Amino acid sequence: MQCPRDGAALTEERVHGIEVDHCPQCNGRWLDHHELDTLEATRAKDDDARAGTIQYAQRESDLDCPVCSRRMTAFNYRAYNLELDTCEEAHGFWLDAGEDAQVRDLIDDRVRGLNRAVRAEQAWSNFLDGVGGPGVWDNIRGFFGGRR
Ligand SMILES: [Zn+2]
Ligand SMILES: [Zn+2]
Repeated sequence: MQCPRDGAALTEERVHGIEVDHCPQCNGRWLDHHELDTLEATRAKDDDARAGTIQYAQRESDLDCPVCSRRMTAFNYRAYNLELDTCEEAHGFWLDAGEDAQVRDLIDDRVRGLNRAVRAEQAWSNFLDGVGGPGVWDNIRGFFGGRR
């Protein structure tokens, strides 16, 4: 599979039991559709926000699906500023490397007490912690460990 952004060959990684295709060139990541479901499944059962409400503010993406080459749809993940691209044929989701910073904002929100969907955020931060490079995520770990 090729990176939808720069055409580099994606390499397969396994993070917290979730398979991710990683671009060595731009650090973007591709998740199969069911892999996001796995993350979503960690949400609280009594939470009224269902999986169908994941997508906010849909618009046309500037990327093509690496599986079927159709133009993808860009959307925001829940109420947060995390932008994902998805294929309407449900082939998967694309996450740009630069979106790491937005994940940090998301974690900040959580710390400020906006505890909506805490478990989903936790799943995301754990997941991104696993696939992110050193540095950024060390800071986050330090933050949660009270060393900052
Ligand atoms: Zn790339
Ligand atoms: Zn597709």
